[in-house]
Amino acid sequence: MAESVQPNPTHVVAVIGGATAGSEIARILAERKTAVIVVEQNPRPYGKIEDGLPRWHVKQRRDEYEEINKRLDHPNIHYLPLTRLGRDLDFNELREGWGLSAVVLTNGAWRDRPFPVDGADEWIDKGLVYQNPLIYWFNHYPEASYNGPRYELQPGATVVGGGLASIDVVKVLQIEMTLKGLAARGIREDMLKLEREGIEPVLKHHNLAWSDLGVAPCTLYYRRRVLDMPLSDISPDAPPKRAEAMRLARAKILEKAQRKFLFEFRELSVPTGLIVENGRMTGIQMSRTEVADGKVRTVPDSARPVLAPMTISSIGSIPEPLAGIPTKGEVYQYVNADIGLLLEGRTAIYAAGNVLTGKGNIKDSLVSGTQIGTHIAETYLGLKPEGPGVPLTDAARERAHQEGLRMAASIEARELLSSEKVANILARVRERQRAIGYEGGYRGWIKKVTPADLQ
Ligand SMILES: Cc1cc2nc3c(=O)[nH]c(=O)nc-3n(C[C@H](O)[C@H](O)[C@H](O)COP(=O)(O)OP(=O)(O)OC[C@H]3O[C@@H](n4cnc5c(N)ncnc54)[C@H](O)[C@@H]3O)c2cc1C
Repeated sequence: MAESVQPNPTHVVAVIGGATAGSEIARILAERKTAVIVVEQNPRPYGKIEDGLPRWHVKQRRDEYEEINKRLDHPNIHYLPLTRLGRDLDFNELREGWGLSAVVLTNGAWRDRPFPVDGADEWIDKGLVYQNPLIYWFNHYPEASYNGPRYELQPGATVVGGGLASIDVVKVLQIEMTLKGLAARGIREDMLKLEREGIEPVLKHHNLAWSDLGVAPCTLYYRRRVLDMPLSDISPDAPPKRAEAMRLARAKILEKAQRKFLFEFRELSVPTGLIVENGRMTGIQMSRTEVADGKVRTVPDSARPVLAPMTISSIGSIPEPLAGIPTKGEVYQYVNADIGLLLEGRTAIYAAGNVLTGKGNIKDSLVSGTQIGTHIAETYLGLKPEGPGVPLTDAARERAHQEGLRMAASIEARELLSSEKVANILARVRERQRAIGYEGGYRGWIKKVTPADLQ
């Protein structure tokens, strides 16, 4: 409940981004009587569960929404939606002006890694499309109130990628083109059925084959070999035989996806040039590559034109730069990445979840949230769990404990903020909440801002 007053001195921590990792950290701290301000740019806090994970994951998405709701619905958590750090809230002001105990960035990885050909961004939405806005559109366009960018998908698109998210992109293309082809024949089909059963069985049901639709499939291009595709994790210490079996399994995963969704695949291919005609990017120059000793080498003079009405870049997501946070290449620069420590000082800055791990999956974000949250609570703020404590996996607790021991020597437990300081900070929060019309507590707000047709 936003209106709860902190009667006693306590710690106050701002968590930026309220999704998987952010809600987990907020919960851990709130359960230890810390006042937590969850700053979220969107009305709802579900992050990539709502805007990334494709909407055919119906049950998983609903379950994860509710997990996040349960974590954030705590009287010590003050939810501040529609507030973007770097736009509505200045990072340096938050760090130096608010007098907080700590700030934790759980803002995920929302920037598409730039397409690796100079000048490509000039052609965004004029032939070039990035994965994150495309999937956002796919997840939301059926909502009656959707007013974001719209994409007209085309047959024969090129997708540059290779990870799991790029498989989702080709699935979106193939499913949408099939639905369109069927609609042109007056047939309405169900996206979920196509995703579940695959394209051919559904077409067969209508006495049709893929070739009857006259739709060119999209093609996924990958710069390494199919065996290198990061479709399943191979532990660095896996014995060679096991690693080889896992690599073969990757090829099987791809084969199965191709059988079901009928897209084309080309390995050892890398974009090296743009083809532009009449103010649009109409294709790319694709060069061949070789992989030797784990390194990719572009074969000189091997470029050939690959024409396509749209090229979709799905080569990974990286953290968005934030003024005040030092960066190293594509990622934030850490004082100690093991504990997510970005900046030391009176108000230390931490990061957790996808922004820290670089891994785009829910479990890793959750585990990271648990570990960093526990570290901040126990070592940085000096808060021990009450009663049975936060349920942690043994591995997560052990790791947090080890990290805690390492940091304990250099960071003393913080002093509690006085009641007056806490009241001042919470007054700022309430002022912003009023400005954006936040009312009715967390659950009331979520009810108000969730469209009836959100999937
Ligand atoms: C196409 C696709 C398919 C996927 N499929 C799977 C899958 O099958 N299984 C799986 O486990 N994972 C999958 N993932 C990945 C998974 O959804 C994410 O890795 C995970 O949910 C990330 O959680 P997070 O809390 O670290 O970050 P996010 O969910 O990205 O949360 C970050 C939050 O911070 C907010 N935020 C960002 N910047 C600011 C700012 N400046 N100010 C305020 N708020 C901000 C965002 O709005 C968001 O709510 C997929 C992702 C994509 C894109």
